[in-house]
Amino acid sequence: MQIFTEIAPLRVYLNTRRTAPYSVGFVPTMGALHDGHLSLIRAAKKETNLTVCSIYVNPTQFGNPEDLAKYPRTLDRDLEWLRKENCDVVFCPETREMYSPHSSIGISFPGLDNILEGEFRPGHFSGVAQVVAKLFHIVEPDRAYFGQKDYQQVMVVSRMVEALKFNVQIVPMPIVREANGLAMSSRNQRLSEAERTQAAVIHDCLQHARRRLLEGVRMNTLVEEVRARCAERDVRLEYLALADRNTFTLLDHVSDPHRVVLLIAAHVGPVRLIDNLLLG
Ligand code: AMP
Repeated sequence: MQIFTEIAPLRVYLNTRRTAPYSVGFVPTMGALHDGHLSLIRAAKKETNLTVCSIYVNPTQFGNPEDLAKYPRTLDRDLEWLRKENCDVVFCPETREMYSPHSSIGISFPGLDNILEGEFRPGHFSGVAQVVAKLFHIVEPDRAYFGQKDYQQVMVVSRMVEALKFNVQIVPMPIVREANGLAMSSRNQRLSEAERTQAAVIHDCLQHARRRLLEGVRMNTLVEEVRARCAERDVRLEYLALADRNTFTLLDHVSDPHRVVLLIAAHVGPVRLIDNLLLG
């Protein structure tokens, strides 16, 4: 496994290894790896000739300095895991390599970055787009793998690729969960055992909401039901929303289950978690 912390030698190396179509598969991460990340690495290994994983906790996508400071960092263990997966290349830069002074830009996504995650985390998607665009230019992947756990992020990245004509195929991958249904997340490392048990209510709520929506219940009723279910487990609901899978228009009820996704954000102890469920 080759490890790089600087852009120039990484580019030189990749150019010597780039071969036929679908040669480079890319998995951008912020590290503190879990089985969700590894599922993306395995898909890239299967479908491409050279798998590149980046590990970089990108400051421009954090609005809250405390969240950035407390984000789990486990680089040595991550490298060990990636070696075991036979990942070919890891790019783990410092911030001075990724951001030069006075180079900040903003990217906006009308209709996508002012609702749900965008509303609760102002500037988040602009930061995600900045770093993903930089990484795409550095790695020049043929295929890039993203988890549907961050559903809105996949939509933002897909829109950027389409709008700016990046030459990369975005591959969305299913959510990997713990045995109790909790979606795997690096932030779960900050939960106590008891909080991990409490957090299972998030997935329960999505299942409950799916049943109720298919019975014809409307979102305003459902949000209050779900808020109460969460409160019973000491979990604070931030939002529960129903959106069109393709346009991300927010909806009040289900007409076609195959076209909608249910999204949730909630606070468990000190940690904010997100999850979602495709209805169809
Ligand atoms: P992160 O390190 O949290 O930025 O995540 C890196 C990539 O892994 C993103 O594309 C995430 O959507 C994806 N990912 C995170 N958690 C999961 C999960 N539980 N299942 C599948 N993919 C995931």
